[in-house]
Amino acid sequence: MSRCRLVIHGGAGVIDRASLTAEREAEFRRALHAIAADAYARLQTGATAIDVVENAVMALEDFPLFNAGHGAVLNADGVAELDASIMDGATRAAGAIAAARTPRNPIQLARAVMDRTEHVLLAGAGTDRLAAELGLPQVGPDYYVTAERAEQQRLAARLGKVTLDHDAVFNAPSPSDKTGTVGAVARDAHGHLAAATSTGGMTNKRVGRCGDTPIIGAGTWADDATCAVSATGHGEYFIRSALAYDVHARIAYGAQLLMDAGRAALARVQSLGGTGGLIAIDAGGNIAMPYNSEGMYRAWVGSDGAVNVAIYAN
Ligand code: ASP
Repeated sequence: MSRCRLVIHGGAGVIDRASLTAEREAEFRRALHAIAADAYARLQTGATAIDVVENAVMALEDFPLFNAGHGAVLNADGVAELDASIMDGATRAAGAIAAARTPRNPIQLARAVMDRTEHVLLAGAGTDRLAAELGLPQVGPDYYVTAERAEQQRLAARLGKVTLDHDAVFNAPSPSDKTGTVGAVARDAHGHLAAATSTGGMTNKRVGRCGDTPIIGAGTWADDATCAVSATGHGEYFIRSALAYDVHARIAYGAQLLMDAGRAALARVQSLGGTGGLIAIDAGGNIAMPYNSEGMYRAWVGSDGAVNVAIYAN
């Protein structure tokens, strides 16, 4: 039986069923299905978990309805600042970028920080300089901006709010405003685990604000001995809970099962007032996708090799 496993997410949040039209929902489902199917096929033909999560997150970044790369949410100045991180469970090598303004694919630059520098986390202007030095694709600020994102930021600014992308509390004008951060976790044919996460953060965030996504141990974690985790939700609470590392620690030190560890770690986020979710795969190939919001865009391939897609609980 194949050891390959895969889970991807497109963010968790208050996904208002009433405003998600059938066509728009189908569009999300098609994208999640296609990206998961492609990633799983790569795993099946021998690609490493680290390459597969990078590649899947690049595809999610390129899809404009998710809050990462093209279509990322905008900060208080109306500018996209991107956060991303990646971790290899085989070596615990990790790379991350925060508040980057020019990488076409933020996760690719995070991978370059991991593979091609002696650092783990680069922020701000240094990220753009590294991308230029390495010749990685860079774009102008307009590349990230969609009309819906600009409207969403203006609305949040008018209301004086900093909002989760998928948060419906400020009556987001369209369903696409309720999709979020993206991430992927995988186990490859050799049993190695990896995780990757990428985001524009929160709408109308302060310039320079960094969420959980670029913080190894908060938004992303991978260790072959335990699990790979990618999180989505209100980042400040995930940082204060060391969410991704907490899932790992519960397995490593508490011998908890993946699902119990995921739920308990998320409960700690919730106890601070934070909402969101996570996707995870453990060393045994088990999958967990708990969330405490109304829904989470997700797709997964378990032991039967079938691609599943879901948004709500059912
Ligand atoms: N976790 C992200 C952040 O706080 C937002 C999200 O998941 O949508 O930056």
